[in-house]
Amino acid sequence: MTIITRFPPSPTGTLHVGSARTALFNFLFARAQGGKFLLRIEDTDRERSRAEYADQIIAAMKWLGLDWDGEIVYQSRNAGIHRQTAERLLEQGAAYRCFCTEESLEAKRVAMRTQGKPYRYDRTCRRLDHAESDRRAAAGERFVVRVIKPAGSAPPAPQVPASPTPAGGITYQDLLHGTITLREEDLDDIIVMKGDGRPLYHLAVVCDDIAAGVTHVIRGDDHLDNTPKQIVIYQALGEKLPTYVHIPLILGSDRKRLSKREGAENVLEYREAGFLPDAVLNFLALLGWSHPEGREILGRDELIRAFSLDRVGTAAAVFDLTKLRFLNGKHVHGGPPEARARLLADYLTRRGETPPSTADLSAMLKVNGERGDTLAEIADYVRFFWVRPKTYDEQAFKKFLEGRKDLVEKIRREFEALADFEGESMEIFFRDFSERGGLKFKEVGQAIRVMLTGKSVSPPIFQSAALLGRTETLLRIDAAQEALATQK
Ligand code: GLU
Repeated sequence: MTIITRFPPSPTGTLHVGSARTALFNFLFARAQGGKFLLRIEDTDRERSRAEYADQIIAAMKWLGLDWDGEIVYQSRNAGIHRQTAERLLEQGAAYRCFCTEESLEAKRVAMRTQGKPYRYDRTCRRLDHAESDRRAAAGERFVVRVIKPAGSAPPAPQVPASPTPAGGITYQDLLHGTITLREEDLDDIIVMKGDGRPLYHLAVVCDDIAAGVTHVIRGDDHLDNTPKQIVIYQALGEKLPTYVHIPLILGSDRKRLSKREGAENVLEYREAGFLPDAVLNFLALLGWSHPEGREILGRDELIRAFSLDRVGTAAAVFDLTKLRFLNGKHVHGGPPEARARLLADYLTRRGETPPSTADLSAMLKVNGERGDTLAEIADYVRFFWVRPKTYDEQAFKKFLEGRKDLVEKIRREFEALADFEGESMEIFFRDFSERGGLKFKEVGQAIRVMLTGKSVSPPIFQSAALLGRTETLLRIDAAQEALATQK
């Protein structure tokens, strides 16, 4: 059997962290099993669906590299098939027309609620005979189509005590939750189509999953309530059920529902913040799944190789931004500087900046080492190489430069005179220089750092100076001297 999974987002919002994790588990399971992973845009609800959300979801899937098999299915385009399916169920007697008005249903809902009972449709219209149903429909009376829940018997009369072994109902397997049994009274004759021929969501999902041969439905456990409704439709259609896997939700660090502030509402925000797609995938995979050997830093191929559903846990996963940053740092610094340079160049270009050549960036990144966890932070560390400081960190300027014109002048002279403009030898030289002048080496280093970078924190400053070159170093010291002169 070929495993077929699907990710069917509703385009009523962007791809958020929780949905991306669901997409990833479907993707990994399919890829690990040599199966297929399908993408379906569930735009059946025309009022709530928006084309730009669909486009954004697709862009996020592409960025993450969650590539799907075949064409994207737009569910609304299958509405004709959904309608035909509902009509077929009507003809076969597996569904019936319900003419109950919204008001009468609401009254029944209220009555059930006051009795403390969950609402189930009382099947008034199930008892209509065909001829009457046809006559009322032909007369233009409004109706909806309801599917008959399994067992097909009349609902238990309220005066009869609940039977200990209820007839009917359904039992299905969930790979995480085990066997789930729903009694007949837990089920409802659900509405699958409006009288105007508009199919409803559950019918659309089931029809599309059947048409695509979906074998595994992996989705958040917020769908646990939908599953019985969909199973009612499967059974009415006489179709085999897929295997269900309802994965636990992701919680915020406060162990409450993940807030928008903490987990990105749009996964593409991570791209803007300088995260790598592979790091995001690595992070999402660990939200609910664990590697058999407890490994944490995993590339895409390793995830595919190692993924299995039996290592998906039943406890809610807790979102941890620190971990995402940590993993991103590992992914971004894991590769050679050239690869990092290309990533950084792309990132900067997308943000409208003009980065130096990849070769130059590589050299800068070599000096920078492993500073910064995200591309944004790394950019902040190395940008001074090609953007001269326009201002200076106020505190650092005060602490290391103010009132030190003489020192700055001396430093400038040394930089001008140094025979060898190379990082290591410059550092040795300035250590000696500090000692001779009765100065702390750290203070001298910081003065140079502030002049060259504008900041008190940067990559190693003498290696940086070497890369900037003598001319540029002197220009920057001149600029600092000017700032000192205008200040006093
Ligand atoms: N369109 C549904 C959603 O976005 C899909 C649920 C499912 O996996 O069946 O939540």
